[in-house]
Amino acid sequence: MLLLSLFFAVIFAIAVKGCVSSGDSGAAASDHDPRVFNLELKSDRRPPVLNERFIETYLQTFGYLRNESGHDTSEVENSKEKLVNALKSFQQFMGIPGTGEVDAQTSGLMMRKRCGNADIHPSSETLGLWKKNVLTWNITHFPKTVKESDLREQLHQAFAAWEIVISMDFVEVDRADKSDIVISFEDSENDWQRDPTHLTIARASGPISSRVWISADEHWGTNNELEQTGTDLFNVLVHEIGHVLGMRHSPDSGSMMHPLFERTMNQQRPIVTSDDVERLRNLYNVGSQDVEKQPENDATSLNETTSNNNCPKIIQSATNAPDGRWLVFKEDKVWQTLNHTVMTPPIEIFQVLPSAPTYVNASATVGDLMVLISDRQIFGYRQTKRNGQFEPAEGYPKELHSRVLFYPEAAFPLANGSIILLSDNVFATYDLENNAPTFLNDKNVYFPNLPENLISGIPQDAGSDNVYWMFTDTDIYEYDARIQQILNSESYTTFFTCDFVKTFNN
Ligand SMILES: [Zn+2]
Repeated sequence: MLLLSLFFAVIFAIAVKGCVSSGDSGAAASDHDPRVFNLELKSDRRPPVLNERFIETYLQTFGYLRNESGHDTSEVENSKEKLVNALKSFQQFMGIPGTGEVDAQTSGLMMRKRCGNADIHPSSETLGLWKKNVLTWNITHFPKTVKESDLREQLHQAFAAWEIVISMDFVEVDRADKSDIVISFEDSENDWQRDPTHLTIARASGPISSRVWISADEHWGTNNELEQTGTDLFNVLVHEIGHVLGMRHSPDSGSMMHPLFERTMNQQRPIVTSDDVERLRNLYNVGSQDVEKQPENDATSLNETTSNNNCPKIIQSATNAPDGRWLVFKEDKVWQTLNHTVMTPPIEIFQVLPSAPTYVNASATVGDLMVLISDRQIFGYRQTKRNGQFEPAEGYPKELHSRVLFYPEAAFPLANGSIILLSDNVFATYDLENNAPTFLNDKNVYFPNLPENLISGIPQDAGSDNVYWMFTDTDIYEYDARIQQILNSESYTTFFTCDFVKTFNN
């Protein structure tokens, strides 16, 4: 078959050019190199050698190639054709031209670190589903390079990413044998038998008894913003929890469920797309009765609004919920964001916060109490431990104390439990517990260099008042309260990752 010989000529040409990846390209070029047909990488993880055997192994490992290729001479042609078809199906899944040849684009995608779960499943394979709403989890082995507290924080946020979209709660328990989901970080060698390509850095099984396996020797990044070199642990966690819930891989490279974890520098970080949400809800047959956790209530009405409104560009207030998500308000709508990622299209505030006002002038969160101020009314909310939903806090709503003469236009919390309310150049330190101001003074004396037209502030570390995210209507600032200086600023259009425009317009 001429096509096949061309195909391998291309492979080796690519290997010679070093497009494959750094490191091994020179060695891979030689047909005489003993490693060319040897996938047993014994020591550290090195870029795999792109040859016929690797491609076949890759396609088999990730579900594109079902049958073992025949060694019988009469079956050779047949198996080559199968290989080309499998390659085309890989290219189709990855959204690149289905040439059936290993071109540069194809090889580039095939060399990326990825999830070990298959991309293609036999149609007969049925998915398991959880029959309960509360799932317990336990970590049995911790990674070497990530602090336990950082890992827990990332895990909580990753679970929350799914809790926002489906009525499922995740609770940590202290015994693995009693938990629904067992998470362990292990040496990647433990997985090489299952994945001879050595590209897998995480995998997970679905319901009913889930195991999440994550490579312990991967260089994990836990700070999405700053970490350029590490693989983003948060994305991997959200992805694997998607499998735990029964989800499969998505061909959409913007989706959290896309199998490739390694991304190019300018590639957008993945999010839980509205298509992911829909697929998950279809799995669990979640209908419109699930109003409070139903962000996309009506796709038609969202289409009718201008697409600009789907992502935050201009906002009126923002605060952080106790579980780490941010609520970003504009008029009667709210976005929920997590780790700079907009998780849902905007929905009406009351759908997230029962009995909420129809607009928010200022908001702030102190400990587990979140307050929204609408004119002179203060609405308080707490999140239930059970499922993270919001419920009105006892004793709220309250009237703002009469000694505060202004209508608050901005608010941010202090570490001592009070909040700062502002309007123009005045501020009040407000004690929520006693519902009274404790101090009133000039903003520019006590908080110089705050952004003009401040509307909200969220501490970068919960409970601290050192460094804040400070919000205006169009931009977010990093403000160091210790030196009373702005460190950075960015517009919401670049600060937040948001793909709802794309999703709802296609
Ligand atoms: Zn996966």
